[in-house]
Amino acid sequence: MTDSSFDAVHPPSRELLDDCVHCGFCLPTCPTYQLWGEEMDSPRGRIYLMDLAERGEIGLEGAFTEHIDACLGCMACVTACPSGVQYNRLLEAARPQIERNVHRKPFDRLFRNGIFALFPYRRRLRAAAIAGLAYQKLRLSRVAERILPPRLRATQALMPPVRLRSAFATLPRRIRPEGPVRRRVALLSGCVQDVFFHEVNVATQRVLAAEGCEVLTPRSQGCCGALGLHAGREQHALKHAKRTIETFEKLPVDNIVVNVAGCGSSMKEYRDLLADDPEWAERARAFSAKVRDITELLAELTPQATRHRIDAKVAYHDACHLGHAQGVRAQPRAVLRTIPGVELVDLPEAELCCGSAGIYNMVQPEPAEELGQRKAGNIRAVNPDLLVTANPGCLLQIGRYLDGIPMLHPVQLLDASIQGRQPTTSMSTQVGTREAPSSRR
Ligand code: SF4
Ligand code: SF4
Repeated sequence: MTDSSFDAVHPPSRELLDDCVHCGFCLPTCPTYQLWGEEMDSPRGRIYLMDLAERGEIGLEGAFTEHIDACLGCMACVTACPSGVQYNRLLEAARPQIERNVHRKPFDRLFRNGIFALFPYRRRLRAAAIAGLAYQKLRLSRVAERILPPRLRATQALMPPVRLRSAFATLPRRIRPEGPVRRRVALLSGCVQDVFFHEVNVATQRVLAAEGCEVLTPRSQGCCGALGLHAGREQHALKHAKRTIETFEKLPVDNIVVNVAGCGSSMKEYRDLLADDPEWAERARAFSAKVRDITELLAELTPQATRHRIDAKVAYHDACHLGHAQGVRAQPRAVLRTIPGVELVDLPEAELCCGSAGIYNMVQPEPAEELGQRKAGNIRAVNPDLLVTANPGCLLQIGRYLDGIPMLHPVQLLDASIQGRQPTTSMSTQVGTREAPSSRR
């Protein structure tokens, strides 16, 4: 028998690989298979590659790395698979094998290291926001479009309009509701979320308080490790997961609330990530059990705050890490339907990823662009007044291709309704958006 090409640290398990019966039901929902029609760029093909590597019949360099790198990690295949194949666990075992054992080209390595030296750190992101503001004021993107290589061009194009006051603002550590406390919660404020989408965190705190929650937002929190976990940087993910658990487990709360789909999905996975660590397994299990997406938590509470009318046709985009990875689809829709006047519409090809996928749109800009354009076309097809989605990565990615339709996080729309305010274009993540619909009492 040939030795496995995987090292001994949590390789994709033979048991999980054997669950795949090669039926192909997952193929139509896989974005990369949709783009290229290549078997090895489908879930079934990638599982086959893992199977061959596990048997030692292929190495990890070359085709294996190329096709696993091209996977978005969107988990549409997990939703589609009738045999319950846990592709998420297979991918999360395969990617660290590549990071440990495959020698990447110097620019690829440098670029990936650069992403991980910047995005998980709020202070560095704030410094980048200052540079970004100057960049936007001087309209350097036009020059950049011409001279930068594709990856850097894609990265600069994703930059949202920078608002320095928001980027440097801090959230109150504790907010108490006016009436009796129905739930005590702690809020993960996030990295990119807190610097570039601070208003979403403000709206989250306000909505939670209006619905009777006491909200604690610890200042000592850092990155939750989601980017690292999804990109195969296991040590990065472990370090940040342990720090996040340490910060939040001290707080006397019923739930840990998160308004970023990718972060919520990782925090629910801590129990698997740390399952073999005797010191952390139980702590991770207890932590993960408390994690709720903001829309999950709101759907658990009977609405108490008055909602004011917002007459708008609202398209809801399921972020993959909320819909496919966490199975949270009904709750955001239920929460949005509590707003009088909102007409909720689903999108064609709703299961298809928008191309954001963590760091994917930076490291694989061409397929990400095709998927972004396709998503934007599907959104335009339903002609909404607003697009709402619960992930900053999706807001940035779709915003790049969707001129003229304001985009919000669902909690911002609910906040506007509770406040009796108009969901203004300034709340949107884009520049140059068309007028948002009006909110009436
Ligand atoms: S992953 Fe599931 S749906 Fe896809 S080929 Fe395997 S068994 Fe079939
Ligand atoms: S995670 Fe998404 S891109 Fe990757 S194989 Fe599954 S469906 Fe395809």
